[in-house]
Amino acid sequence: MTAQILDGKLVASAVKEEVAAVVSQLDYVPGLATVLVGDDPASHSYVRGKRRDAEQVGIRSFHHELPATIPQDELEALIDGLNANDEVDGILVQLPLPGELDSEAIVERIDPSKDVDGLHPFNLGLLVLGKKGLRPCTPSGILRILDHYGIETAGARVVIVGRSFLVGRPLALMLSERGADATVTVTHSRTEDLHGETTDADILVAAAGARGLITAEHVKPGAAVIDVGINRTDDGLVGDVDFDSVVESAGAITPVPGGVGPMTRAMLLVNTLSAAKARRS
Ligand code: NAD
Repeated sequence: MTAQILDGKLVASAVKEEVAAVVSQLDYVPGLATVLVGDDPASHSYVRGKRRDAEQVGIRSFHHELPATIPQDELEALIDGLNANDEVDGILVQLPLPGELDSEAIVERIDPSKDVDGLHPFNLGLLVLGKKGLRPCTPSGILRILDHYGIETAGARVVIVGRSFLVGRPLALMLSERGADATVTVTHSRTEDLHGETTDADILVAAAGARGLITAEHVKPGAAVIDVGINRTDDGLVGDVDFDSVVESAGAITPVPGGVGPMTRAMLLVNTLSAAKARRS
């Protein structure tokens, strides 16, 4: 059996169409501010993509590009200005920040109602409490692609490889929330028997940033495999999953590129729209 390919580009473009349709009915233009510090080429390319997406769905983009030498207090002052700007509904600071800049302090400076990355402690707190709030984009994108392809989470055993606050931990909370109802195991670099854990999974999510970590041996036949990893190689981007071997026995799999990445970007637009509606209603 060859796995069904979970096409993130396709699902992301459906999500973008939905957002564009709603935006076109609003009597205001939602605004997304992007803050890009330094000259990391990957960060530049991510932000370019996010701004292009925003414009495609009718969200106005306010872009701020700053040198890596910007002092912390100046960056914080920029965030304060964006918090106070009524035309800005969402603020995205592209991480990681270079040098000595304190990313945590910057993220905490963002008004939680404009935190469209869903990484402010207030929004993460709402997530822990199971209350409505802005959720992190990558986990939201994973839930959305599973839902699109009818991959049932209720009652499923989900194993997540990686415990970062960006992906693994919020995803574990979102999948175990009422409504998603999965039974979730989070593994990490100190997990003793990774193989023993992953082979139990009906849905396996790899978010470690380790090329080729997950091979066919780690996957239960028929399982859905979500590859979050982005690893740059001479041959281009690859995930954490050895696609060629896993595709032969898994039930479904996201490719890299073209899987979780486009979904993350699409969910940023969904969050910006939600933030705009909540602020302006
Ligand atoms: P991180 O470095 O913050 O966390 C990695 C996690 O993986 C850690 O918890 C670590 O314990 C675990 N880990 C590392 N090696 C492991 C191993 N050999 N066995 C088991 N666990 C291991 O990374 P992150 O920010 O969560 O990102 C993870 C990957 O996902 C990266 O490749 C990143 O580029 C990618 N990413 C992709 C998207 C997307 O939209 N596609 C979004 C965010 C992150």
